Amino acid sequence: MISINLSDKIAIVTGGASGIGAAISFKLAECGANVAIIDKKEVLEAQTIINTIEELGRKCVFICADISDFQASGNAILEILSKFGKIDILVNNAGINKDGVIWKMTEEQWDNVININLKGYFNYIRAVAPVFREQNFGKIINISSINGMRGKFGQANYSAAKAGIIGLTKTIAKELGKYNVNVNAIAPGLIDTEMMKNADESVRENAIKEIVIGRIGLPDEIANVAAFLSSDLSRHITGEIIKVDGGQYI
Ligand code: NAD
Repeated sequence: MISINLSDKIAIVTGGASGIGAAISFKLAECGANVAIIDKKEVLEAQTIINTIEELGRKCVFICADISDFQASGNAILEILSKFGKIDILVNNAGINKDGVIWKMTEEQWDNVININLKGYFNYIRAVAPVFREQNFGKIINISSINGMRGKFGQANYSAAKAGIIGLTKTIAKELGKYNVNVNAIAPGLIDTEMMKNADESVRENAIKEIVIGRIGLPDEIANVAAFLSSDLSRHITGEIIKVDGGQYI
């Protein structure tokens, strides 16, 4: 029987307080990992996922930080190292959207999304890369989007950041491969989270028409792939972008 065993692994999940990040945090803990969650939300807003992980008998460290802050990212990695002694898995997941057609998009909308959705990923990779090189082991999983592969009306900032993550993933895979570090991305289609609830009803209706499986995806369905990519089962996969979208973009 094949099972995913992450016993004694230390995983970081950015944006782990809710949505896809919370599902990934839970899944990795279920597979045996202790988890450090980084989120801009206050600890009280993350209490449900923290309690759930601790009820599994795993440790959970919560750090309130904005992933777009370079200095804070380095500090968070130092804090996690001091609490756990090592880091094995980094899941870059935190993200936002600030949609608008290009002729109406403000500089602030552009900068916010690029700073969080792209620079935020760089910040954490930059901070863990020396640790992974030194220990000659690591797994990096970046959450991109199918909209980074195909583009999306009204999402120039978001699609550009998500496409940037794909280039970042492939480059870091090449740079860290010889240190036994696997670097992959997951490109979800529409997934049922708070992010989606903020979108117009028409976004949901149009997505369902595109999804050949005929329904919107669940956070747990992204978490399953994140757990696989965190595990030894995927040791010969790197630089890969895995769509998890029910066939929304074929
Ligand atoms: P969500 O809004 O439900 O959760 C995002 C989490 O990230 C929240 O807990 C939020 O507080 C945190 N966060 C946001 N900005 C942050 C910052 N600057 N610093 C630290 N934490 C921050 O969103 P979600 O749907 O779970 O999305 C998770 C990831 O999946 C994002 O990268 C998103 O772009 C991607 N994604 C989502 C969908 C979807 O349909 N939901 C589709 C494709 C890709």
